[in-house]
Amino acid sequence: MGQAPDPSGEVDLAVVGAGIVGLAAAREALSRRPDSRVVVFEREAEVGLHQTGRNSGVVHAGVYYAPGSLKARLCAAGARELYDYCDSRGIPATRCGKLIVAVDRGELPRLDDLERRARANGVPGLRRLGPSEIREVEPHARGAAALHSPATGIVDFRRVARALAADVTAAGGTVATSCAVESVEPSSRALHLRHSMGATAARRAVFCAGPWSDRLATAAGARPEPRIVPFRGAYLRLAPERRDLVRALIYPVPDPRLPFLGVHLTRRADGEVLVGPTARMAATRDVTTRRPRVADLRSTLAWPGTWRLMKSHWRAGLAELRRAVGRGALAAEAARYVPEIEAGDLLPAFSGIRAQALAHDGTLLDDFVVSETERAVHVRNAPSPAATSSLALARVIVDRAERLP
Ligand SMILES: Cc1cc2nc3c(=O)[nH]c(=O)nc-3n(C[C@H](O)[C@H](O)[C@H](O)COP(=O)(O)OP(=O)(O)OC[C@H]3O[C@@H](n4cnc5c(N)ncnc54)[C@H](O)[C@@H]3O)c2cc1C
Repeated sequence: MGQAPDPSGEVDLAVVGAGIVGLAAAREALSRRPDSRVVVFEREAEVGLHQTGRNSGVVHAGVYYAPGSLKARLCAAGARELYDYCDSRGIPATRCGKLIVAVDRGELPRLDDLERRARANGVPGLRRLGPSEIREVEPHARGAAALHSPATGIVDFRRVARALAADVTAAGGTVATSCAVESVEPSSRALHLRHSMGATAARRAVFCAGPWSDRLATAAGARPEPRIVPFRGAYLRLAPERRDLVRALIYPVPDPRLPFLGVHLTRRADGEVLVGPTARMAATRDVTTRRPRVADLRSTLAWPGTWRLMKSHWRAGLAELRRAVGRGALAAEAARYVPEIEAGDLLPAFSGIRAQALAHDGTLLDDFVVSETERAVHVRNAPSPAATSSLALARVIVDRAERLP
């Protein structure tokens, strides 16, 4: 194990972003080369504050993803490794199981498609259930049919991120918090990062900056596509006396045209039952504020893909707006699966911001996207299930960084 590197000096690897993906990559790099000098830069005062700390906390089992995609491959492997990791670190991670419910016969063809995908992806223990079996798993749920994935679970991803940060430090790396990377400049010898603590010359860098990944990539010389467009995902929670309406996880059959999974019911490790999230385009990339950020708004509106997306998905956008403005619409959505839920059962919770990559032509990119510039690897799209997949995704990132010329 080497001596912890000074964040303003020379390093072998700089990682930008201490979300779960950046921290997993730093840990992976140090486990391969224990003597290397590795620094993680994080603009916030603590790790895992953005997407990593504000999500559903679901360890996905690989049901949804196109067979052969990075998501399909890395989710299955990542979930296995994540459960083992949590076991070894004493972090509760429970395989509580998930139901994906087709509420009526009209949704059965989409449930069939999903079942084919899940089987092609080798989702462990998957079962198809009829109406009475649904009630055996979730006594208050109803539907025409469902898929049950017993290997799906829940975990607190921010706790995982903190444990990964501790591993990085214990292995001789540095996690420099409150240190925003402000500029990136490649030269023949190194990649020069200017940041709030000074400057660092890195032999190689990996950028895992979530909502800001496109800005850092373009600063390093990458093409502007894809652009990050932020989507706010707001959650409500069931009132404590109504929590027993949900045992574990109840999900809808998702709209295959959108990369979001739809409003779901999630029982967390602490016993809270979340209802959400919504998926509404946001005026800021920064989850720590509700105020619009001019630069973020301008970046979204100046991107041609935004207008193309709005044109093709205006109906879904209006439905999201309805869910975002009143509890009634979110309650009605939840009541499709659990009819006893009413608007009065829902209390405020929190929201997260999804960093969603959007192509020039208005396509919402579904798969993980990793690309390269001189001396650098950029994670340009790491939406759900990237938290589940983080330990496996880290291997792909570090493989790519090691192959850089
Ligand atoms: C509402 C919601 C629900 C979700 N549900 C799930 C789920 O149930 N299961 C699942 O697997 N996934 C889920 N996800 C997705 C998951 O949270 C993300 O895929 C994952 O957290 C991405 O991690 P990350 O490290 O790439 O990004 P982030 O956690 O966003 O981390 C990026 C970090 O980079 C830092 N950074 C950015 N710019 C700079 C800079 N210039 N200098 C220094 N630091 C910088 C940021 O401060 C931030 O800490 C959900 C996401 C959301 C928003």
